[in-house]
Amino acid sequence: MMPRFHAQDEHLMDYAAGSLAEPIAVLVATHLALCPACRARVEAFEAVGGALLEKLGTEAIDRSLRDSVLAKLDETDSECAPPPSVRKPAPIDLRVPEPLRGYLGGGLDTLAWKARGPVDEVRILREHAGVTSRLLRIKAGTPMPHHTHDGNELTLVLTGGFTDRGDHFLRGDVAAADSSVDHCPAADPGEDCYCFAVNDAPLRLTGPIGRLLNPFLRI
Ligand SMILES: [Zn+2]
Repeated sequence: MMPRFHAQDEHLMDYAAGSLAEPIAVLVATHLALCPACRARVEAFEAVGGALLEKLGTEAIDRSLRDSVLAKLDETDSECAPPPSVRKPAPIDLRVPEPLRGYLGGGLDTLAWKARGPVDEVRILREHAGVTSRLLRIKAGTPMPHHTHDGNELTLVLTGGFTDRGDHFLRGDVAAADSSVDHCPAADPGEDCYCFAVNDAPLRLTGPIGRLLNPFLRI
């Protein structure tokens, strides 16, 4: 099934240019593995970027610089090209598309999950430019604690689904939230929901109990 909620154009453009922080690039690339529509948009952005560089090259850009930039675009040509990082050999877990699968070091069931309140989490990639990333496992039918963010949060659904502010997110969908959003996404009943979440600032719990727990509990 095609995803209904997509990566934002600004992220697709930066992905095409190879300028995203690694955790966001991995999230976008994993969405692309499930989304032909966004793959087509990335190809279009790459074509526009290449044409623009060609045009500029005839006027102002030193040819050697232009060639090195064009070569870099060629390197990022594949929609699934993993960003540079040390990749661990992993057993195949088809619930997790590449390139994310290559970063797990195991299937979803064999990871070292840590309980964070009603949600289990595993840190995946090293922090990059202040951006952190985690796998989340939200128990079936369970709401996450009420929280907001100091920055931006992107969440890619891998299995199951969740409802947030009236929208229903399923496998391949990307949910975006910023500091204006105070929410408590709830996993669908019947199946645990696994997600890949990327944040560029810590989360803050906002419910009456959550505020008390903030100094002790990072979710
Ligand atoms: Zn998409």
